[in-house]
Amino acid sequence: SIYGDYIKSVIRTVPDWPQEGVNFRDITPLLQNSAAFRKLIDSFVHRYQEMELDAIAAIDARGFIVGAPLAYELGCSFVPVRKKGKLPFQTISETYTLEYGEAEVELHADAFRKGDRILLVDDLIATGGTMLAAAKLITRSGGLVVETSTIVDLPDLGGAQLIRDAGYSVFAVCS
Ligand code: 5GP
Repeated sequence: SIYGDYIKSVIRTVPDWPQEGVNFRDITPLLQNSAAFRKLIDSFVHRYQEMELDAIAAIDARGFIVGAPLAYELGCSFVPVRKKGKLPFQTISETYTLEYGEAEVELHADAFRKGDRILLVDDLIATGGTMLAAAKLITRSGGLVVETSTIVDLPDLGGAQLIRDAGYSVFAVCS
């Protein structure tokens, strides 16, 4: 994407966090830098402004940081996809496998209408498990996932490929 190299330059790598051997990609320097944050949101706005979206679905919690300004700017709904046990109303959920154990994402049963055009956003795709589970959840509830979108993709982990193989489009600002 147009600002990809610039956005990449303001993401910090923290070695051995949250555990030894993991290089955590920390987006907080990007958020602290108002010019960089604006360019980030602008690159999503530029890509999606003609796509006639009905809603932005964003993944708990860093996906919210991108999803909320995007929904505001594009004039569409904001829908939170949350970790298990956080949503108060009737929910549907999708379980997926992590390296150790399982995780679950949830969506309110009335989050959108059948056929709504949804953009799904998160901050990062690693194994792709989280994004894919969220996309499946939206599909199951009758939404059309126009694209899954992220700030960072880690291509070595094959997550974007996994999501594409399941039939969803993937966009990343940087890799
Ligand atoms: P996946 O399900 O693709 O393996 O992991 C992606 C999810 O875990 C995303 O919701 C993302 O927020 C979080 N995550 C995993 N690794 C990182 C990382 O290095 N940096 C950030 N910012 N988030 C990560």
